[in-house]
Amino acid sequence: MLATHVERLDAIVYTHGHADHVLGLDDVRPFNYRQGTIPIFAAPDTADTIRRVFSYAFDKREFKTHIPQLDVKPIGDDPFEVAGLLFEPIPLMHGKEKIYGFRFGDAAYLTDHSFVPDESIAKLNGLDVLFLDALRHKAHPTHSTLAEAIELATRIRANRTFFTHMCHDLPHAATQDTLPTGVFLAWDGLEIEVNGAA
Ligand SMILES: [Zn+2]
Ligand SMILES: [Zn+2]
Repeated sequence: MLATHVERLDAIVYTHGHADHVLGLDDVRPFNYRQGTIPIFAAPDTADTIRRVFSYAFDKREFKTHIPQLDVKPIGDDPFEVAGLLFEPIPLMHGKEKIYGFRFGDAAYLTDHSFVPDESIAKLNGLDVLFLDALRHKAHPTHSTLAEAIELATRIRANRTFFTHMCHDLPHAATQDTLPTGVFLAWDGLEIEVNGAA
């Protein structure tokens, strides 16, 4: 956030409550100093995890400067609005767990999926930008492999597809050379512009 000079944070939208997706929440405090309370959108089980892991952030006895200032907004399968942009939850299977990806305008961010149901794929027509989970080559019980992610990208056919959540088994440049046209490994500092109209 410092390296890319992010000056404003409208909200945080959670896919699920695993540690690699929720730790770091404490660093929302500099945005609290400038903007006040930050809305965080999360499914009930994810919100429970956040309340448990960051219990001090919900302790009314703490001084406000010490703790993140958060307004938890519960979400389910229905679309919700974040800073004027409509977010459509896209149910995904992460092993046996149901988690959410999100479509917002002509972009969608899906990660930590081992299976994307057909009904969810049907919500992903006409995308300009798509993010997908592509962990590694070797099969994994809760993530997509590179080959599975390429197959998903080919089915969904966004103008541009970015893979994320790669592990160190995938050297960046060498792996990029093997990807189809319009499919890229994402990188730190990547910025996208989103057309709000789907
Ligand atoms: Zn996960
Ligand atoms: Zn993860």
